[in-house]
Amino acid sequence: MKTPTGMTLRERVYLPEIFKGMLVTNYHFLRNLTLHFAHLVGLAKERSAAATVQYPDQRKTYSENFRGSHRLTLRPNGDVRCTACFMCATACPAQCIYIEAGEHPDPQVEKYPLRYEIDTLRCIYCGLCVEACPCDAIRMDTHVHPRIWGFDRKDFIETKEVLTHRSVVLEEQGRDGNMNEMLAWYKEQERRPYDRLRPELKTYTERERRRQELEQADHAERTAADMLVNARPSDG
Ligand code: SF4
Ligand code: SF4
Repeated sequence: MKTPTGMTLRERVYLPEIFKGMLVTNYHFLRNLTLHFAHLVGLAKERSAAATVQYPDQRKTYSENFRGSHRLTLRPNGDVRCTACFMCATACPAQCIYIEAGEHPDPQVEKYPLRYEIDTLRCIYCGLCVEACPCDAIRMDTHVHPRIWGFDRKDFIETKEVLTHRSVVLEEQGRDGNMNEMLAWYKEQERRPYDRLRPELKTYTERERRRQELEQADHAERTAADMLVNARPSDG
């Protein structure tokens, strides 16, 4: 019998429904556990148990239509194909493309981007920039997904250099190249020590600059001390 809310009395009591849900959960848990144990001893190999992909050590192959991170395509001579027409930036609903146009040295090409940046924290990966481009200068076929690690908003801004580099990697190393490079970058960041001298400097760029400044100051101090020692008359 339905109540005025449209639920049966049994559903309104909740407990039977909770019990039913737990039965389903436990059934799948025990089934998968049993199958995993059976697989370990060489039984029931034909029946698959649910398994989690251990990303990033294991990866699924993305479909050919996967819409990955952007890249700026290149001309055969290695120049960036983009002519800084701003169509992509105009079409972008998230307004996350920043372009600075410059005059191209080749009179056949009017302009090229001095700066081309995408703020990936704002990008919604809709692909409208790719659709809008009249020169096939921007694509999302890198098979790499966005970076998920950074200490500052600046770490998520992809520059022209990053975007063109992806095209080179794709050309030279194929569809896994960019993903392998990104994972290597993650591992490299894990190994880098945190700079305790200036913990408020959150980006790697800032921390690196500060480290270099300290090294230079240290070097200058040691050189000055050496000069002082050498300038002193000997005790003998
Ligand atoms: S994918 Fe969409 S949101 Fe991202 S830069 Fe392109 S147009 Fe903008
Ligand atoms: S990527 Fe394409 S649409 Fe965007 S500025 Fe360059 S040429 Fe124009």
